[in-house]
Amino acid sequence: MTEDRPVALISGGSRGIGRAAVLRLAADGYDVAFCYHSQAEAAELLVKEAGSLGANVACHRVDVSDPDAVRAWVTAVEKELGPVQAAVTSAGITRDKAMVMMSDDDWRAVLGTNLDGAFHVCRAVAFGMMKRRSGSIVNISSVAGIYGNATQTNYAASKAGIIGFSRSLAKETGRYGIRVNVVAPGFVDTDMVAAVAERAREAALANVALGRMGTADEVAELVAFLAGDRAGYITGSVFQIDGGIAL
Ligand code: NAP
Repeated sequence: MTEDRPVALISGGSRGIGRAAVLRLAADGYDVAFCYHSQAEAAELLVKEAGSLGANVACHRVDVSDPDAVRAWVTAVEKELGPVQAAVTSAGITRDKAMVMMSDDDWRAVLGTNLDGAFHVCRAVAFGMMKRRSGSIVNISSVAGIYGNATQTNYAASKAGIIGFSRSLAKETGRYGIRVNVVAPGFVDTDMVAAVAERAREAALANVALGRMGTADEVAELVAFLAGDRAGYITGSVFQIDGGIAL
């Protein structure tokens, strides 16, 4: 850790919402550590971009569904940059299918990355935070985890799981000075949404009061607020950022 620069760790930081969070937190004065899974080029570009904002940047290839890899990642980051003050879990995947057609692999892959992944990251950072009696965690869920979504039983289960997990963790760790909150985005313009068929995208947008998708930067603003001291009395809360998707 550079003097006066706390460390933020972001899983799935190389693209989309995680990437925007890396840049927002770097601009806010954090040193940033992020991981990616497969797209090394996007990660390398981000190292340069975040570095140009004055942050020390650590980038690792990690599969968040692998608990040992996550432990090794957090150990390496804390050696390189210092203790993690804020953690954001954004790594996530979809494998949409009608439930009756869903394979065991589709189910396990989504739960393994989205829910197990968040657990692995939180577990790896929480012990140090508890010892230091300070830290904040922001887990990225989804409105699908609140309202459900046809063809997303696996994804919605993982995102609903993140809510119960985070609220429980907030109760468990609050007395150690750790805050845990959830951000539940609606329809945000990233590669994940670009993969959805246009007709389905249009149908979903018809239910959004603001009539447009959100941007990753808009979500990152909320994430950065919750990660920092300005949100010092907020924990165990779920924040929807969805342009009014369910009004
Ligand atoms: P995205 O653009 O597809 O980016 C996903 C990120 O997660 C990438 O950096 C990817 O790395 C990383 N990742 C995927 N699997 C991983 C694994 N096993 N281990 C480590 N990293 C992994 O997705 P996004 O739209 O930004 O979504 C970010 C989070 O927001 C997800 O949790 C998603 O469920 C949630 N969310 C998104 C929306 C939306 O509308 N976009 C709405 C609600 C919630 P590589 O590029 O290297 O694979």
